[in-house]
Amino acid sequence: MNPEIRVRFAPSPTGYLHVGGARTALFNWLYARHHGGKFVLRIEDTDKARNTQEAVQVILDGLRWLGLDWDEGPEVGGAHGPYFQSQREDIYETYFQKLLASGHLYEDGGAWRFRSLREIVVVDDIVCGRIEFDLSNPETHPDMTIRRPDGSWIFHFVNVVDDIEMGITHVIRGEDHLSNTPKHLELFKALGCQPPSYAHIPLILNKDGSKMSKRDAGASITGYIEAGYTPGALRNYLSLLGWSPKDNRELLELEETVNLFDLSKVNRKNAHFDLDKCLWLNTQHLTKLPLERFREMCLPFIKKAGIAFGQPEALDPVLAIVREKVKLCSEIPAWISYFFTEDYTFDPEAARKAFASPVVLERLTALVAAFDSVPEWSAASAEAALKHTAAELGAKPNELLLPTRVSVSGRPSGPNLFPMLEILGQKRTVARLRNAITTHAQA
Ligand code: GLU
Repeated sequence: MNPEIRVRFAPSPTGYLHVGGARTALFNWLYARHHGGKFVLRIEDTDKARNTQEAVQVILDGLRWLGLDWDEGPEVGGAHGPYFQSQREDIYETYFQKLLASGHLYEDGGAWRFRSLREIVVVDDIVCGRIEFDLSNPETHPDMTIRRPDGSWIFHFVNVVDDIEMGITHVIRGEDHLSNTPKHLELFKALGCQPPSYAHIPLILNKDGSKMSKRDAGASITGYIEAGYTPGALRNYLSLLGWSPKDNRELLELEETVNLFDLSKVNRKNAHFDLDKCLWLNTQHLTKLPLERFREMCLPFIKKAGIAFGQPEALDPVLAIVREKVKLCSEIPAWISYFFTEDYTFDPEAARKAFASPVVLERLTALVAAFDSVPEWSAASAEAALKHTAAELGAKPNELLLPTRVSVSGRPSGPNLFPMLEILGQKRTVARLRNAITTHAQA
């Protein structure tokens, strides 16, 4: 039997979770779940200055929101902890002593350097293939520092020690770490340990080919949470940054992705970030969500907007008719607010257009009478009444649509008119039309 697959995501807490980091976490998680292995979360917080509880929390929250649960790590525990590098001092000291005793280290101005083995190191990468790194020249490849004069540790050393101690079998990380890998392999060799397999996944670049920075739109996972993306859509999008199921499909559910994912299908080419595609995937995922889950996703935005909706279930009929119109849950309050208050405002531009012609008020007055006498109010009966009124007035039904919509919602656009009138109900529809007539007659 093969040994259990163990992968890890090893972020440094910088204060935010970058899409690149989230994609690395996702690929590790998918690999673990596909193979029934373990996904470990390790916080690489040796940089004390930047290391805060909030910075770690952003990462944990982001991963949880994305649904990337870890089998070992912070707040979960496990047999290979602690999972914060800042708490693993003793372990590093032991490995340091091992390297010291075997003659691999020397002091240099208070810092400790690793004496390179001066060999050609071969990285046999699952994604990038076989690459030879010639480390024989000290001019181009000076001995790496592993410990600073103040006693703190350098990334390469603690990263390798932890991968050994945590029994990591596969290191899946960004291609920006490929050039570090020969150094890491030297450390494994000096410590007499079998290195893990490596898979360096392609960089994520902006559409124009520039390197993605922290400030670029779409760079931070918090931004997606705040905009009201669904975790499923973002996961779907991130999975396609450097991987594809090879059958041109793009809209994928998580279960399928877990089934199909493998490192052999990761591309070598850089991935290009495309926020429009991400948004498109979000609309696709939104329409597929069960209504209850959609409501749950929208609720924080609705509450924040101060909409008085009563019981959450009262939102459902409204959400059902507007959801195909929105790309993000953060757009929801603007689409639904007028359903829940009589104190809605009229978009001035829309009102000017809708009430421009003097005959409009007369027509609306006729429509009010017709609506008022509909025996059983529904989308269909409201539509029939409007068509009938239009015919009687010698107008086209279309000419009544915009004035009606603006009257009852204050807005030039929204969900389909008749379902919207059904939800508003007969009384409110009639009252709102009367109110709009009075308001615009005075104007
Ligand atoms: N802390 C490193 C980073 O955030 C981890 C690199 C690795 O995965 O080995 O880039």
